[in-house]
Amino acid sequence: MAFNIAIDGPAGAGKSTIAKTLAKELGYVYVDTGAMYRAMAYYFLDQGIDKDDEAAINAAVSGADVTIRYEDGAQQVYLNGENITGSLRTEQVGNMASATSIYPAVRTKLVSLQQKLAKTTDVIMDGRDIGTCVLPDAQVKIYLTASVETRAKRRFDELTDKGEPADLAKIAADIEERDYRDMHRDMSPLRQAEDAVLVDSSEMNIEEVVAAIRGIVDEKKGNA
Ligand code: C5P
Repeated sequence: MAFNIAIDGPAGAGKSTIAKTLAKELGYVYVDTGAMYRAMAYYFLDQGIDKDDEAAINAAVSGADVTIRYEDGAQQVYLNGENITGSLRTEQVGNMASATSIYPAVRTKLVSLQQKLAKTTDVIMDGRDIGTCVLPDAQVKIYLTASVETRAKRRFDELTDKGEPADLAKIAADIEERDYRDMHRDMSPLRQAEDAVLVDSSEMNIEEVVAAIRGIVDEKKGNA
Protein backbone atom coordinates (compact mmCIF):
# COMPACT_ATOMS: atom_id res chain seq x y z
CA MET A 1 0.00 0.00 0.00
CA ALA A 2 1.24 3.49 -0.84
CA PHE A 3 2.28 5.81 2.00
CA ASN A 4 0.07 8.90 2.00
CA ILE A 5 0.66 12.17 3.84
CA ALA A 6 -2.26 14.62 3.99
CA ILE A 7 -1.68 18.30 4.73
CA ASP A 8 -4.73 20.50 5.16
CA GLY A 9 -5.12 24.06 6.30
CA PRO A 10 -6.29 27.54 5.35
CA ALA A 11 -4.99 29.68 2.49
CA GLY A 12 -1.45 30.96 3.01
CA ALA A 13 -0.47 28.64 5.86
CA GLY A 14 2.57 27.48 3.86
CA LYS A 15 1.22 24.07 2.88
CA SER A 16 2.64 24.01 -0.64
CA THR A 17 6.13 25.24 0.33
CA ILE A 18 6.35 22.70 3.14
CA ALA A 19 4.84 19.84 1.13
CA LYS A 20 7.16 20.48 -1.82
CA THR A 21 10.26 20.47 0.41
CA LEU A 22 9.19 17.33 2.25
CA ALA A 23 8.30 15.54 -0.98
CA LYS A 24 11.81 16.18 -2.26
CA GLU A 25 13.40 14.97 0.99
CA LEU A 26 11.31 11.80 1.08
CA GLY A 27 11.25 11.09 -2.65
CA TYR A 28 7.45 11.31 -2.70
CA VAL A 29 5.19 12.91 -5.28
CA TYR A 30 3.72 16.26 -4.25
CA VAL A 31 0.08 16.64 -5.24
CA ASP A 32 -1.25 20.21 -5.11
CA THR A 33 -5.04 19.81 -5.12
CA GLY A 34 -5.64 23.58 -4.95
CA ALA A 35 -4.16 23.77 -8.45
CA MET A 36 -6.89 21.42 -9.67
CA TYR A 37 -9.67 23.64 -8.23
CA ARG A 38 -7.85 26.59 -9.77
CA ALA A 39 -7.78 24.83 -13.17
CA MET A 40 -11.54 24.35 -13.03
CA ALA A 41 -11.94 28.00 -11.99
CA TYR A 42 -9.71 29.09 -14.87
CA TYR A 43 -11.99 27.19 -17.23
CA PHE A 44 -15.15 28.77 -15.76
CA LEU A 45 -13.61 32.25 -16.05
CA ASP A 46 -12.56 31.54 -19.61
CA GLN A 47 -16.09 30.43 -20.43
CA GLY A 48 -17.52 33.60 -18.86
CA ILE A 49 -19.51 31.63 -16.30
CA ASP A 50 -20.82 33.42 -13.21
CA LYS A 51 -19.54 31.95 -9.93
CA ASP A 52 -23.10 31.89 -8.53
CA ASP A 53 -24.65 30.09 -11.51
CA GLU A 54 -24.61 26.49 -10.29
CA ALA A 55 -26.59 25.19 -13.28
CA ALA A 56 -24.05 26.65 -15.72
CA ILE A 57 -21.18 25.27 -13.62
CA ASN A 58 -22.76 21.81 -13.54
CA ALA A 59 -23.20 21.88 -17.31
CA ALA A 60 -19.62 23.06 -17.87
CA VAL A 61 -17.82 20.56 -15.59
CA SER A 62 -17.69 17.75 -18.14
CA GLY A 63 -16.10 20.11 -20.70
CA ALA A 64 -13.03 20.64 -18.51
CA ASP A 65 -10.56 17.80 -18.82
CA VAL A 66 -8.03 18.36 -16.03
CA THR A 67 -4.95 16.13 -16.05
CA ILE A 68 -1.85 16.15 -13.93
CA ARG A 69 1.63 15.30 -15.15
CA TYR A 70 5.01 15.46 -13.48
CA GLU A 71 7.80 17.11 -15.41
CA ASP A 72 11.23 17.21 -13.71
CA GLY A 73 9.42 16.37 -10.47
CA ALA A 74 7.13 19.41 -10.70
CA GLN A 75 3.37 19.11 -11.00
CA GLN A 76 1.99 20.41 -14.28
CA VAL A 77 -1.72 20.99 -14.74
CA TYR A 78 -3.23 20.51 -18.18
CA LEU A 79 -6.65 21.78 -19.14
CA ASN A 80 -8.01 20.22 -22.30
CA GLY A 81 -4.47 19.42 -23.41
CA GLU A 82 -2.96 22.84 -22.66
CA ASN A 83 -0.44 23.38 -19.86
CA ILE A 84 -2.00 26.18 -17.78
CA THR A 85 0.19 25.79 -14.66
CA GLY A 86 1.71 29.28 -15.05
CA SER A 87 -1.70 30.99 -15.10
CA LEU A 88 -3.18 29.50 -11.94
CA ARG A 89 -1.67 31.43 -9.05
CA THR A 90 -3.45 34.78 -9.48
CA GLU A 91 -5.84 36.30 -6.92
CA GLN A 92 -8.62 36.26 -9.51
CA VAL A 93 -8.28 32.52 -10.17
CA GLY A 94 -7.84 31.82 -6.42
CA ASN A 95 -11.02 33.67 -5.50
CA MET A 96 -12.95 31.96 -8.30
CA ALA A 97 -11.59 28.58 -7.14
CA SER A 98 -12.78 29.25 -3.60
CA ALA A 99 -16.22 30.31 -4.87
CA THR A 100 -16.70 27.35 -7.23
CA SER A 101 -15.18 24.63 -5.04
CA ILE A 102 -18.43 24.66 -3.04
CA TYR A 103 -20.25 22.81 -5.84
CA PRO A 104 -20.59 19.01 -5.53
CA ALA A 105 -20.10 18.51 -9.30
CA VAL A 106 -16.70 20.19 -9.11
CA ARG A 107 -15.58 18.38 -5.94
CA THR A 108 -16.71 14.91 -7.01
CA LYS A 109 -14.77 15.14 -10.25
CA LEU A 110 -11.54 16.31 -8.60
CA VAL A 111 -11.68 14.06 -5.53
CA SER A 112 -11.82 11.01 -7.76
CA LEU A 113 -8.77 12.22 -9.70
CA GLN A 114 -6.91 12.83 -6.42
CA GLN A 115 -7.76 9.40 -5.00
CA LYS A 116 -6.52 7.71 -8.17
CA LEU A 117 -3.18 9.54 -7.91
CA ALA A 118 -2.65 8.48 -4.28
CA LYS A 119 -3.66 4.85 -4.66
CA THR A 120 -0.47 3.48 -6.11
CA THR A 121 1.99 6.26 -5.36
CA ASP A 122 3.61 7.60 -2.17
CA VAL A 123 2.25 11.13 -2.06
CA ILE A 124 2.17 14.28 0.01
CA MET A 125 -1.13 15.84 -0.90
CA ASP A 126 -2.21 19.26 0.29
CA GLY A 127 -5.62 20.92 0.25
CA ARG A 128 -8.62 21.51 2.49
CA ASP A 129 -10.33 18.11 2.72
CA ILE A 130 -7.51 15.62 2.21
CA GLY A 131 -7.45 14.15 5.72
CA THR A 132 -11.21 14.31 6.18
CA CYS A 133 -12.48 13.21 2.77
CA VAL A 134 -9.99 12.44 -0.01
CA LEU A 135 -7.55 10.21 1.91
CA PRO A 136 -9.28 9.28 5.19
CA ASP A 137 -6.78 6.42 5.64
CA ALA A 138 -3.64 8.53 5.11
CA GLN A 139 -0.88 7.32 7.44
CA VAL A 140 0.03 10.90 8.42
CA LYS A 141 -2.38 13.82 8.66
CA ILE A 142 -1.27 17.36 9.40
CA TYR A 143 -3.42 20.43 9.93
CA LEU A 144 -1.14 23.37 9.19
CA THR A 145 -2.34 26.80 10.17
CA ALA A 146 -1.12 30.29 11.12
CA SER A 147 -2.77 33.53 12.22
CA VAL A 148 -4.50 35.68 9.58
CA GLU A 149 -1.90 38.43 10.20
CA THR A 150 1.01 36.07 9.59
CA ARG A 151 -0.53 34.60 6.46
CA ALA A 152 -1.40 38.02 5.02
CA LYS A 153 2.11 39.31 5.70
CA ARG A 154 3.68 36.27 3.99
CA ARG A 155 1.52 36.78 0.91
CA PHE A 156 2.30 40.51 0.93
CA ASP A 157 6.07 39.82 1.06
CA GLU A 158 5.76 37.24 -1.73
CA LEU A 159 4.03 39.76 -4.03
CA THR A 160 6.33 42.69 -3.23
CA ASP A 161 9.40 40.43 -3.71
CA LYS A 162 8.09 39.78 -7.22
CA GLY A 163 7.66 43.53 -7.72
CA GLU A 164 3.87 43.20 -7.85
CA PRO A 165 1.55 45.72 -6.18
CA ALA A 166 0.13 44.56 -2.84
CA ASP A 167 -2.23 45.94 -0.23
CA LEU A 168 -1.84 44.25 3.16
CA ALA A 169 -5.33 45.11 4.45
CA LYS A 170 -6.96 43.87 1.23
CA ILE A 171 -4.95 40.63 1.33
CA ALA A 172 -5.99 40.02 4.96
CA ALA A 173 -9.64 40.68 4.09
CA ASP A 174 -9.46 38.26 1.13
CA ILE A 175 -7.87 35.60 3.33
CA GLU A 176 -10.59 35.98 5.96
CA GLU A 177 -13.31 35.76 3.33
CA ARG A 178 -11.70 32.67 1.78
CA ASP A 179 -11.28 31.01 5.21
CA TYR A 180 -14.90 31.65 6.02
CA ARG A 181 -16.15 30.22 2.74
CA ASP A 182 -13.84 27.18 2.90
CA MET A 183 -14.87 26.43 6.51
CA HIS A 184 -18.60 26.95 6.11
CA ARG A 185 -19.50 25.27 2.83
CA ASP A 186 -21.84 22.26 2.99
CA MET A 187 -19.64 19.76 1.20
CA SER A 188 -16.31 18.80 2.81
CA PRO A 189 -15.63 22.08 4.62
CA LEU A 190 -12.12 22.82 5.82
CA ARG A 191 -11.61 21.39 9.29
CA GLN A 192 -8.99 19.49 11.21
CA ALA A 193 -9.49 15.73 10.95
CA GLU A 194 -9.83 14.08 14.35
CA ASP A 195 -6.60 12.15 13.83
CA ALA A 196 -4.63 15.07 12.35
CA VAL A 197 -1.72 16.71 14.19
CA LEU A 198 -2.10 20.49 14.54
CA VAL A 199 0.92 22.56 13.53
CA ASP A 200 0.63 26.32 14.03
CA SER A 201 3.39 27.98 12.02
CA SER A 202 2.70 31.58 13.16
CA GLU A 203 5.97 31.69 15.10
CA MET A 204 7.93 29.17 13.03
CA ASN A 205 10.11 29.49 9.93
CA ILE A 206 9.98 27.05 6.99
CA GLU A 207 12.88 24.91 8.25
CA GLU A 208 11.23 24.53 11.66
CA VAL A 209 7.91 23.47 10.16
CA VAL A 210 9.57 20.99 7.79
CA ALA A 211 11.56 19.51 10.69
CA ALA A 212 8.46 19.23 12.88
CA ILE A 213 6.44 17.43 10.21
CA ARG A 214 9.40 15.27 9.18
CA GLY A 215 9.62 14.15 12.80
CA ILE A 216 5.96 13.10 12.77
CA VAL A 217 6.42 11.22 9.46
CA ASP A 218 9.58 9.43 10.63
CA GLU A 219 7.91 8.36 13.83
CA LYS A 220 4.95 6.95 11.91
CA LYS A 221 7.17 5.15 9.44
CA GLY A 222 9.20 3.66 12.27
CA ASN A 223 5.99 2.35 13.76
CA ALA A 224 4.46 1.20 10.46
O1 C5P B 1 -4.78 26.05 -1.97
P1 C5P B 1 -5.26 27.01 -3.02
O2 C5P B 1 -5.28 28.44 -2.58
O3 C5P B 1 -4.55 26.84 -4.32
O4 C5P B 1 -6.78 26.58 -3.27
C1 C5P B 1 -7.69 27.39 -3.99
C2 C5P B 1 -9.11 27.10 -3.50
O5 C5P B 1 -9.49 25.78 -3.88
C3 C5P B 1 -9.28 27.12 -1.97
O6 C5P B 1 -9.61 28.41 -1.47
C4 C5P B 1 -10.41 26.16 -1.73
O7 C5P B 1 -11.66 26.80 -1.80
C5 C5P B 1 -10.32 25.19 -2.89
N1 C5P B 1 -9.79 23.90 -2.48
C6 C5P B 1 -10.68 22.99 -1.95
N2 C5P B 1 -10.25 21.73 -1.63
C7 C5P B 1 -8.96 21.38 -1.80
C8 C5P B 1 -8.03 22.32 -2.31
C9 C5P B 1 -8.47 23.59 -2.63
O8 C5P B 1 -11.85 23.28 -1.78
N3 C5P B 1 -8.60 20.14 -1.50
